[in-house]
Amino acid sequence: MNLAIVGGGAAGFFLAINVKEMLPQLEVTIFEQQRKVLAKVAISGGGRCNCTNTFADVTDLKQVYPRGANLLKRLFKQFSPSDAYRWFEAHGVPLTVQADQCVFPQAQDSHAIIDCFLHEARRHNIHIHLSTKIDDPETLLQQFDFVAVTIGGTPHGAGCVPSLFTFTIPDPSLNALQGLVADDSLVSIPSTPFRSQGPLLITHWGMSGPAILKLSSHAARHLAEHDYQSPLLVNWTGDSNADHVRQHLSLLIQQNPQKHIDNVRPYSLQTRLWTYLLDKAQLSGKRCSEIGKKGLNRLTNLLTNDTYHISGRYPHKEEFVTCGGIPLDSIDPHTLESKTHPHLFYAGEVLDIDGVTGGFNFQAAWTTAYAVAKAIAHLSLTKYNV
Ligand SMILES: Cc1cc2nc3c(=O)[nH]c(=O)nc-3n(C[C@H](O)[C@H](O)[C@H](O)COP(=O)(O)OP(=O)(O)OC[C@H]3O[C@@H](n4cnc5c(N)ncnc54)[C@H](O)[C@@H]3O)c2cc1C
Repeated sequence: MNLAIVGGGAAGFFLAINVKEMLPQLEVTIFEQQRKVLAKVAISGGGRCNCTNTFADVTDLKQVYPRGANLLKRLFKQFSPSDAYRWFEAHGVPLTVQADQCVFPQAQDSHAIIDCFLHEARRHNIHIHLSTKIDDPETLLQQFDFVAVTIGGTPHGAGCVPSLFTFTIPDPSLNALQGLVADDSLVSIPSTPFRSQGPLLITHWGMSGPAILKLSSHAARHLAEHDYQSPLLVNWTGDSNADHVRQHLSLLIQQNPQKHIDNVRPYSLQTRLWTYLLDKAQLSGKRCSEIGKKGLNRLTNLLTNDTYHISGRYPHKEEFVTCGGIPLDSIDPHTLESKTHPHLFYAGEVLDIDGVTGGFNFQAAWTTAYAVAKAIAHLSLTKYNV
């Protein structure tokens, strides 16, 4: 029996190696359109490959997989993030966990993973055809018993839009904050459920950092539909309750009546950010006793509801993925086999599954590839008695 895998990326290789471990007699061929395989793995995570995450900080998969969380919850029972961790270590790639729960090869080099995959592919005699673009994978079913499509994402393909990008905000007042990181910000798109929390970085084009990337992922479709034109609310305090923030400010002001407000920084905000907000509120240089109720309200509003206008999408060079792809209701949720084309399977980013930054996208590739490998091995053994 034989299997054709279309796409020599992360999911394609992981599928090929795992299916050969389960069923060594299966002939496996990878077709890759480029002259090189695993190109994205090489550049991933800034060349270090953030290959998974411990998920220790994840209470709900929907937080990290805006699309595909339910399917992945089911598939993690077959191959979980800890299984992936063990898999790499057992295949000679020692891993390390960062404080933010992101997992990288100990070598801090994505080639540790590429070398492992190429070594395993050679060991299992997996055939690799480079510079071979397959336009209609289902036609391969005439020559192969099984076909797996692992062609990755196509951000501009039909029904697909980019995810994981930063926001262009042409607001000259932000120039004063370039390079500043606000450690705990809450960002949201008004009149939508889309919000996220985390560090926010001010750049020369607008805003970036984990909070913005997460928001771009959750709101990927909404922003595309609005041509990347949208208001953005920034809460600089990390506290979503404006009444708490007002009380906190009011107390600070009462306790320091003679001090200049510039010297009374709430929430350990950086001096540059506090100065910027005070200028915006026209309160710079005032003593606390002069702030008054109106000043307090203005400051509370700026701290919790500072409004900007997103006017475009700026590519995030470190990682970007596709929102959209093969609809999940068109495949079997256990085997990822097409409901319309038996023996045609899908794994990796080609599916309508994508995550935020932090190793979640590779984990989706490993898990879906493993599920397909298992389904093909099981089908060969039970139905065809290989
Ligand atoms: C710059 C960057 C950095 C990233 N860093 C991280 C990270 O650190 N952690 C993380 O979790 N995720 C990261 N990602 C996302 C991650 O790389 C992808 O989610 C992952 O590679 C998806 O694996 P895949 O095998 O589905 O697709 P790919 O890795 O994209 O592989 C698909 C392969 O199929 C080939 N192909 C496409 N069409 C055809 C065709 N018609 N015929 C034959 N071959 C074809 C392509 O050339 C490619 O080699 C990053 C992405 C980018 C762009």
